[in-house]
Amino acid sequence: MASYKAPLTDVNFLLNEVFDYPSHYQSLSNGAEATPDMVDAILGECAKFCENTLFPLYQSGDQEGCKLVDGEVKTPAGYKEAYEEYVAGGWQGLSSLEEYGGQNLPASLGLMKQEMMGTANWPFSMYPGLSMGAMNTLQLHGDEDQRQTYLTPMTEGRWTGTMCLTEPQCGTDLGQVRTKAVPQEDGSYRITGTKIFISSGDHDLAENIVHIVLARTPEAPKGTKGISLFIVPKYLPDGKGNAGEANGVSVGALEEKMGIKASATCTMNFDDANGYMVGEENKGMECMFTFMNTARIGTAIQGVGPAELSYQNALAYAKERRSMRALSGKKEPEQVADSLMYHADVRRMLLTQKAVAEGGRAMLYDAAQYADHMVCGHLEEDTKKIQKYDDKLGFLTPILKGFLTEKGYEATNLGMQVFGGHGYIKEHGMEQIVRDTRIATLYEGTTGIQALDLLGRKVLMMTQGGAVRDFTLRMSNEARKHLTDSTLRPWAWQILKLATQWNWLTFRLMVIARKDRDMVSAAAHDFLMYSGYVYMAFMWLRMAAAARQGLAEGGDQSEDFYNAKLATAEFYFERMLPQAQGHADSMLSPSDTLMQLGNEAFAFDY
Ligand SMILES: Cc1cc2nc3c(=O)[nH]c(=O)nc-3n(C[C@H](O)[C@H](O)[C@H](O)COP(=O)(O)OP(=O)(O)OC[C@H]3O[C@@H](n4cnc5c(N)ncnc54)[C@H](O)[C@@H]3O)c2cc1C
Repeated sequence: MASYKAPLTDVNFLLNEVFDYPSHYQSLSNGAEATPDMVDAILGECAKFCENTLFPLYQSGDQEGCKLVDGEVKTPAGYKEAYEEYVAGGWQGLSSLEEYGGQNLPASLGLMKQEMMGTANWPFSMYPGLSMGAMNTLQLHGDEDQRQTYLTPMTEGRWTGTMCLTEPQCGTDLGQVRTKAVPQEDGSYRITGTKIFISSGDHDLAENIVHIVLARTPEAPKGTKGISLFIVPKYLPDGKGNAGEANGVSVGALEEKMGIKASATCTMNFDDANGYMVGEENKGMECMFTFMNTARIGTAIQGVGPAELSYQNALAYAKERRSMRALSGKKEPEQVADSLMYHADVRRMLLTQKAVAEGGRAMLYDAAQYADHMVCGHLEEDTKKIQKYDDKLGFLTPILKGFLTEKGYEATNLGMQVFGGHGYIKEHGMEQIVRDTRIATLYEGTTGIQALDLLGRKVLMMTQGGAVRDFTLRMSNEARKHLTDSTLRPWAWQILKLATQWNWLTFRLMVIARKDRDMVSAAAHDFLMYSGYVYMAFMWLRMAAAARQGLAEGGDQSEDFYNAKLATAEFYFERMLPQAQGHADSMLSPSDTLMQLGNEAFAFDY
């Protein structure tokens, strides 16, 4: 594969011209240190680490994969050294609490770091990524002793964490979890059960692995109301901050899978292992939601990063590869044929990739400001603030996770298509990006589950449409500001119309769902995709407005950069956004169109 270059120009544009991150950081109780110079230095260093250390291991990691040797997982060559560099750079504790060894910088900076690292080498980034989720759970729900014991070495990166939810009989429906937790006299528990598909379940990068495990105590009620959360370390802490004796945790198997081969996916066996309860008994699912929300936004990045990587390489190829002549006449007469760049259909693919990568990045940076406020709410112990931003982020999380991973995967497929048959050949690395990205719509809750969470829980049940009303109000207020600008006006109108339509669709679904019980599930996917297209359109309007301002006032970027933003916005509004209407039409179709066919009538020969 050709190369990866961190998109720092786009990042700076978003930070300084679209979202005014400098003012945002100064408004946060943990943001004083995040000055523009500091942010610039951090992102610059991160870019170097990604370009020089992580990306060169991306393809070799796929070819070599992880191996299970004598019951322990070995990561591919170079991963251990790269992880040591990651730890030495203090990257794991960038946005973590100072008292446990972190740098206490805003959460959004951690997300920007994660995006770059995930783009350069997604499988590598899963090791620290999972650990981050475990750290957030312990920070919010662990007691002080647990935080001192586990959070400190995890923040340093000496220990890593996992998320052990899935069992052979259940992934989505965690109410079926069977792993047992038997209380001991000293207040600890003995954990017994099997967890499957555990990312980073075992590896040779860190001294210890802290498993965060869902299990049931003996008298627990059935279903999700009887699930508790436990810390189960691979090695028991020795009381001096180091890993001690081995616990009853072993690797049952290492999965062979389609992609992310350098990320270890393990079957984990817990045999009478020592475990320590996190939070209250039977409140495990609530605690786990912290983990899942972090992980879901983390997984949304897997829509943006691979779209960016695939785009960078498809663009370079399209400029070099020659095929036939442009329909409007020869463009490079001195060459044997014109480059792929002159064919409208190739441009459709490249512009779709660009619109998804840049539009998706803007969505992440927008939502990240809510995450920053929510973290500050926790630091300030301000429950109202926590609730306010948790609600806002809770509404956006399934859209980010569901929509961005679907569109990101599509973008990686388009990147492969730009290469023609060469895209299917391993050498170029384009098929690896497709394989590695396919998982993003499956783990951390499938797209179908994100869609149900969005429409069923967040929109209809919890807020009776209020979440959509709040968000569309923000969209309309922004759009109204741009009605006097002749370039932005048509897009601002579109946003105003979509704001009305989104509310109307929500209302219609609410009414229909009262009589038609299957309607929520039937409409959810279309509602999710529609919401994603609209959110991305809102971001393209904001980016176009910032580009207009940059052109008028001589902003930090080049004129070509601003004009490219405007051209991509136009492409998005004219050629991608119309798909939202298809989803709008489809979501109102009665559930009968899905439910009427009898199970036995799906097929007649088998
Ligand atoms: C590479 C990889 C890494 C993973 N890492 C982890 C990890 O670190 N920790 C962990 O705990 N798990 C992990 N998983 C598991 C993953 O999160 C689950 O596979 C996923 O949540 C889906 O669960 P399932 O496979 O049991 O599918 P099922 O729950 O059986 O779902 C099958 C299909 O039915 C749909 N479906 C199910 N219920 C409903 C419903 N009520 N309404 C509508 N549709 C429904 C789903 O959307 C899906 O399309 C990983 C999996 C893989 C492949």
